[in-house]
Order: sequence, then structure tokens, then C-alpha cells
Amino acid sequence: MARDLPIAKLLAELGYRTDAAQAAARAALEHDGVTRPGKERIAEWKRPDAEAVLAARVALLCPACREAGLGTDVPDPVEAGTGDRCWVCEGSANRRGALAFERACARAGFRRVIVVGGSPDIRRELPGLLPGLDLRVVDGTVARPGRDVQREADGADLVLLLGSTELNHTVSATWAGPKTVATQSRGISAFLLEAAAKVGDRAGRAGR
Ligand SMILES: [Zn+2]
Repeated sequence: MARDLPIAKLLAELGYRTDAAQAAARAALEHDGVTRPGKERIAEWKRPDAEAVLAARVALLCPACREAGLGTDVPDPVEAGTGDRCWVCEGSANRRGALAFERACARAGFRRVIVVGGSPDIRRELPGLLPGLDLRVVDGTVARPGRDVQREADGADLVLLLGSTELNHTVSATWAGPKTVATQSRGISAFLLEAAAKVGDRAGRAGR
């Protein structure tokens, strides 16, 4: 006998966990004939069909992404709950912050970004989170001659100071300038969201 499994379990495995997400996913599967109304179980071999239908038709978007203005290109999204697989951030707050920051930079026309400060872990992680930017990360604990700093700042579109992290005052002072945005939030996702909002404000004021 062919193996089968509860439809609700399959949907949860595919990231549709809330009642609303399960209902929307079920409706799509029924509409496309992958299952029928009232059926509790689904044959294991239909899993690829179910995945294809859901991937094409039932988008999940979490409240945090919606609030951050992300996922505006996602068609007819169903609100994702905790544990649901949001299509935009995939449940990762860091990814959400990175997407919001990249989008704000794109809108402002910023591509070359220097991040000053942050723990070694943060400085290691950031480039992978922000592949759309030409990113440079700078140790905030090592003071360098102002002339060198100025030359680097001249070549950048934006300088981001991570104020709540490992950043000496003497270092941050050398980076002060019209391209500099300072954040105070702790944690990657929080300072990226703060930076996204500040870049957005600045671009708005500049009439971009
Ligand atoms: Zn999300």
C-alpha cells in the first residue's frame, strides 16, 4: 500500500502552520486537484505536486516583514505565524534587517557602504547578509589617521557607525561627516532596521 500522511502534517512541514495558512494552502491544493474537500490524508507521492502548487500560489508573509515594508512584490500573501516559513525573511530576523537595509540603500542610490564597529562576529557575518552592497567592515577599536579615514569615506556612499557595539569614541569621531549615519540599536537585525529607517529618512529629505 502506498504511504500516506495527514494533510495538516504535510502543510506544517512545508511551513504552513497557522490555521489561516493551512486553510489557504488546503484551498489551493483542492482547487488544483491535488486533494479533495474533506480528505484528511494525502499520498506521500503527491508531495512534489503539493509543494509546486503551494510555491506558486500561497505566499506566506510575516507581520514583521510587512511592517518593515518588505514583500510588497509577493502576490496575495497569507499572514505567516510563528514557525511559518515567511517567503521574504524565512523566519530570520537578521535576514529581514538585511533586506530592509539593502532596499533602503538601493532606493537612496547607495552601493558602497562602510560599516564601522561591531564585534568580530558581526563583522564576519555582515558581508554574507548584504550581498547586494559593496561592503567594507572596519574594526571600531583601532584608531587610524584621519587622512586615511577621510580618503575611504570619500570613496563610499554611506558610512554606518554601530554605536552600541565595539566602537571607540576616537574612531567614531574620525568618521563623522555628511555621509555618516549612526545607529544605537543592539544586535544585527535591530541596527540594520534602524539604519534602513535612517537612510530612508535621509533619502526622503533629499527628495530622492
Ligand atoms: Zn518575514
